[in-house]
Amino acid sequence: MKLCRFSGNRFGRVEGDRVYPIKGLSDVLPPLSWPPAPGDQLIANFDSVRDLAGKADGESLALSDLTLDCPVANPSKIIAAPLNYEKHVEEVGRDIQIHANSHGSKFEDFANPIAKLGLFLKANSSLAGPSQPLILTHGDRRNDHEVELCAIIGRECRNVPVNEALSTVAAWTIGLDMTVRGPEDRSFRKSPDGYTILGPWLVTPEEIADPSDIELWLTVNGQERQRARTSQLTVGIPELIALASEWYTLYPGDIIMTGTPDGVGPVEPGDRIEAGIEGLGELRVDVR
Ligand code: MN
Repeated sequence: MKLCRFSGNRFGRVEGDRVYPIKGLSDVLPPLSWPPAPGDQLIANFDSVRDLAGKADGESLALSDLTLDCPVANPSKIIAAPLNYEKHVEEVGRDIQIHANSHGSKFEDFANPIAKLGLFLKANSSLAGPSQPLILTHGDRRNDHEVELCAIIGRECRNVPVNEALSTVAAWTIGLDMTVRGPEDRSFRKSPDGYTILGPWLVTPEEIADPSDIELWLTVNGQERQRARTSQLTVGIPELIALASEWYTLYPGDIIMTGTPDGVGPVEPGDRIEAGIEGLGELRVDVR
């Protein structure tokens, strides 16, 4: 099932180029109280949301008419993997513009950079959906695209064993981990408003037979920049979830960005980014 968020507070089931709006969402979500439980309440009640989505029929809307928002509204955190494809590590070693950062390490010497660097967090306020343009900040710097498969965690969990990790995933989506290059810490350079773009919708796990071997790609103005398979990940998806849950309690809606393959490169105002992942669709973002 493909589920999109649109017009701010609406959710719908995507069928081809039509969207069937889900009715009665407020009946399955908890009433507002303070303080709210950590995590995204729609994802926390995802089984009920999926039931409603399955029943959504009748009038449908044209997908092309809708403003698609980030499909996860209120995650407790965005967890991201650095340097998780070998060829990306190699290009970082070759390109001083990517390489120059606060860590000052020779990443190409690391067989498993995550074992040295761990994971990092991006600000939740950097989240955006595909229908809004990406407004570059710090235009004097290089601003790079990074296409990544993203797992959306479905339930609160801690210390998840590797062999159970995929059972915590409520949905998959495409992510763009946009990055300002420079000497500062990763979380600083990757967290401007709009620099974490998710979408175009959530895809439920039964649609993706093997997330550990699917293709991802990215073009800028129709020219291919990135293409790889998730089978080339250095630290696989179950291992990333297990590692993250060793360090943080994971909550419903938490986002795990699994890392980007080689081919990262700059974007400029006026560019159009198209990013796709096998079985998940394509994300289109205009750069301003
Ligand atoms: Mn990244």
